[in-house]
Amino acid sequence: MNLSAPRGTQDILPQDIHNWRRLEDALRKVFGRFGYEEIRIPVFEDVRLFNRAVGEVTDIVEKEMYTFASGGEDGDTFALRPELTAGVVRALVEHNLLNNNPFMKLWYAGPAFRKERPQKGRYRQFHQFGVEAIGSMDPYVDAETVLTLTTILKEVGVTQYEIHMNSIGCPNCRPAYREALKQAAAATLKERCGNCQRRFDRNILRLLDCKVEHDRELSKQLPGMFEMLCADCKAHFEKVQSALAGVPFTLDKLLVRGLDYYTKTVYEVTSPLLGSQDALGAGGRYDNLVAELGGPKASGVGFAAGFERVLIAMSHGEAPKPPAMDFFVIYVEDKNKGDAFRILNQFRQAGLSGAMDFESRRMKAQFREAVRANARFAVILGEDEVKKGVVKLKNLTTTEEKEVALDEAVRRLASS
Ligand code: AMP
Repeated sequence: MNLSAPRGTQDILPQDIHNWRRLEDALRKVFGRFGYEEIRIPVFEDVRLFNRAVGEVTDIVEKEMYTFASGGEDGDTFALRPELTAGVVRALVEHNLLNNNPFMKLWYAGPAFRKERPQKGRYRQFHQFGVEAIGSMDPYVDAETVLTLTTILKEVGVTQYEIHMNSIGCPNCRPAYREALKQAAAATLKERCGNCQRRFDRNILRLLDCKVEHDRELSKQLPGMFEMLCADCKAHFEKVQSALAGVPFTLDKLLVRGLDYYTKTVYEVTSPLLGSQDALGAGGRYDNLVAELGGPKASGVGFAAGFERVLIAMSHGEAPKPPAMDFFVIYVEDKNKGDAFRILNQFRQAGLSGAMDFESRRMKAQFREAVRANARFAVILGEDEVKKGVVKLKNLTTTEEKEVALDEAVRRLASS
């Protein structure tokens, strides 16, 4: 039987893990600096949450969710989460988090699942990190989420990216825009793809982000939302832009978000390092989602970014070296192996990282293992050393060697 990982999933192997960790460390650091608190939510939820929050007329809900029956008597259907915003808002409402703090800034990271056609940068199990800042209408909060994402990118050395911004208005001004779009798009609708034709009546805004080249050309002729924003949305968007003074971004009238819940600001950060799936992350404001999911009237804004995509962009920079191990115990003869094992664990208890060769190889081979393990020091143990209660400490970079007592060895390893 030839068993391989399911299509569209990936094993993250030990040689890849350093980059993942580097990104994870950067996220934690930056989220902390920007005042976000972490939230962890289930990997699956009631499917109705996504139908409601993500929207019925979206690729995700129409065809990309992995759904399954609960198996219980209640007949519920669950779905593996295709994104995390819906679950985060559900948790916030369920636990009344806004009661204690009317402005919550949350961050998350974890896997998400979509039944998409796999290709480079697009997987069926992928990983997202993101933020949700909930409880403020202030445009500075929109700008702060953009800066959070770009600061993370900077922290991991990704400098080649572009920020695209748009405002898609609100329930006051969007209906008139939809009508204007319909009128303008009707004449060339027959030339568009099947998806666009279906969406014309159900979700006209989605015509704008159709990826078919010919359709994109047609969309460039369509009116943008900027001119039709109501006074409130216009003022909001202008403030977001001025709050981002000094940060280069492009206004993009074709930018709409695939998910239904967005209002006002939407943005996407793309990178030329990525190929056709070029979005590193995307986000925007959602003023009605919290109430829609049974919570108070509270506005939110957030982004989600893809780990795998950011990692592809990171791989164009310098690869980080795996962290060095403090020591590697080397035993001269097999009869010293027991003492070597004891010292190995004694040093580990003292907080040092170390390993030894278990195969009773000759010393030369053990040294090779020490170098392969990227150890800083060799702790050498022979009959003499065992008798005297000492070890030879060899600096594997400088090759300097010194006989020291065990506690002195621990001290030196910990301080160098
Ligand atoms: P979305 O919720 O579709 O805006 O996705 C947010 C981010 O998640 C995107 O900008 C991508 O970086 C990432 N992403 C979305 N779908 C996938 C996928 N199928 N595979 C890998 N990354 C994805």
